[in-house]
Amino acid sequence: MSAATTRSRTPDRLCAEAVDLAREAAEEAAAPGVVGEHVSAVAEGDRVVTHFFECKEPGYRGWRWAVTVARASRAKLVTLDETVLLPGPDALQAPEWVPWSERLRPGDMGPGDLLPTEADDLRLEPGYSDEDAPPPNSVVSVSGELAERVEAEDAELVSRPDASRGSIASLAEELGMRRARVLSRYGLHAAADRWDESFGAKTPMAQAAPASCVSCAFLVPLAGSLRQAFGICANEFGPADGRVVSLSYGCGGHSEAAVMPKPPRPSPPVLDTLGADALPLRPAADSGSVEAAGDESAEDLGHS
Ligand code: SF4
Repeated sequence: MSAATTRSRTPDRLCAEAVDLAREAAEEAAAPGVVGEHVSAVAEGDRVVTHFFECKEPGYRGWRWAVTVARASRAKLVTLDETVLLPGPDALQAPEWVPWSERLRPGDMGPGDLLPTEADDLRLEPGYSDEDAPPPNSVVSVSGELAERVEAEDAELVSRPDASRGSIASLAEELGMRRARVLSRYGLHAAADRWDESFGAKTPMAQAAPASCVSCAFLVPLAGSLRQAFGICANEFGPADGRVVSLSYGCGGHSEAAVMPKPPRPSPPVLDTLGADALPLRPAADSGSVEAAGDESAEDLGHS
């Protein structure tokens, strides 16, 4: 038997000696040839000992076959309790399980996927509520007899089948505020930070841009408070087409920054190959001037 390690208690002698029984059980549970050397024997209790064997399977580096054997009080027969594969101190193990909500990354969603939003999601807040009713001690709150009358009217309204028509939700619906929840201040800030990181003033593209988006004709303004800092780029050839860009972002596709070069103007020809030179048919007798000869030849041509 190999050297046995002990915990605080000494393993039962007969159980500690039952290495062959334990190996046989481990080999029965494992694939052939993957049970290695006996590593240790650990006392689990009175007359209960676990024998550890190396696992030689490549996928289970550092794991050990653990075979627990036991015997009854005053009995000499050692029997098999259980056989399991357990990770050792240096075992290669899967990383700790992380809930899906923490594992989710931008871009993970595919067609047909549903992404539930927690009721207490910090990025959202109610789109409407009835919490703007005046507090009880407010100067506009009702009290006394009037309060009793209002309460009675409310009770009557609630008892009517069409009471929902007067609810805050239906009023919000009528006013076009159909969203039960809207972005909270935290949600707005988080979105603005994200967008600014991708398409903001500090990006290399913006640093090298001839002008910023705020003066570009391709910028489509946003609605709401975010319009003060962001818009949507609609330049199909730009790097941010269809994306939310910071007003201080910019690119070489800015509508006004780059001017189309004019085609170069050709210089006048040195040799005129298109015009016609007047040439005399016969040289003048007493004058060599081209002009006189030209006139003469023209006359000659006119009278011939
Ligand atoms: S084309 Fe360039 S400068 Fe113009 S809005 Fe788009 S990203 Fe901004």
